[in-house]
Amino acid sequence: MTIFHSAALKLTAWYLSLIMIVSIGCSLAIYQLSRDQLINNTRRQVYFFNDVLEPSDFRSFSQLRQRQLEQGLNRLKGNLVFFNTLVLIGGGAAAYALARRTLRPIENSLAAQTRFTGDASHELRTPLTAMQTEIEVALRDKSLTKKDAVELLQSNLEEVAKLKALSEGLLRLASSDTRKPDHKVDLASAAEAAADKWRKAASTKRVELKTELNPAFIAGDEQALHDMASILIDNAIKYSKEKGGTVSVRTYQDGKESFLEVSDSGQGIEASELPRIFERFYRSDSSRSKLRVQGYGLGLSIAKQIVELHQGSIEVKSSLGKGSVFIVRLPAVKS
Ligand code: ADP
Repeated sequence: MTIFHSAALKLTAWYLSLIMIVSIGCSLAIYQLSRDQLINNTRRQVYFFNDVLEPSDFRSFSQLRQRQLEQGLNRLKGNLVFFNTLVLIGGGAAAYALARRTLRPIENSLAAQTRFTGDASHELRTPLTAMQTEIEVALRDKSLTKKDAVELLQSNLEEVAKLKALSEGLLRLASSDTRKPDHKVDLASAAEAAADKWRKAASTKRVELKTELNPAFIAGDEQALHDMASILIDNAIKYSKEKGGTVSVRTYQDGKESFLEVSDSGQGIEASELPRIFERFYRSDSSRSKLRVQGYGLGLSIAKQIVELHQGSIEVKSSLGKGSVFIVRLPAVKS
């Protein structure tokens, strides 16, 4: 029996106890009131006929009324027991359904946490295993030269950098729930700083990085917004073709909303994958295999978490082979 099943049963027992206390309490009250009323009626009739009937007739009349009273009370008792049995069965089923419903969000979030921990451990183990194997092989190699050792250290350093990026991503996912965004921030300056960070990578890949940054004020955490823009721009460059690709970053305010749009003319995303790309550790097959693009599938889930922390939403439109556009929509504040 799972922990949630036994918790659901306990909760059911509590709900059912409450239902039964109310039901039995009401039944006892109904029984008591009806009983008092029936006894009073019988007494009144008996007193009335006492003067009217012959003593022998009166005796049999009062015995008859007494029997009728007892039968009436027994019928009432039977009905109330039947009613309470129905309440017990129906209430039990309803209480169990209610208990499952109460526990479902907790069950889902625990399942998500367990999945997340499992995925995180798996991702952490991969570079660690690679490093361990390389070091063990090198230690067994009697003819290891200084050049080999330097190569090994360089390779280990790459794995360490990946582990650092991964642990930073995990930390970010774990901590940003608690930060409260409350400063007035211009999305344009957050996007500009993020674009500057990736300018060199774009030019190395010969991808044109264009910006059109109009003021777009929101209440937020500047560093978090910079990180979010940075993730989107990094992806746009990463998933663009070498030479000739274009990445555009645009910010603007429209009425009560501020927008950040990052579009690229890259590989695009399969329609079937669109609903999943914001999940933690999700990477499309093409990112994993064909293009061999670095990443752990955490970027978009971090970006989404930051956007939601700012009461905003993020959506993506994409066309396979033509490119994608990520649109972030956040509540604006006056400039
Ligand atoms: P990562 O980039 O580390 O794989 P992300 O969470 O940032 O992780 O992205 C998840 C997946 O979404 C990527 O593996 C990729 O398949 C897809 N994706 C994200 N951005 C783009 C983009 N601009 N163009 C095409 N695919 C993208």
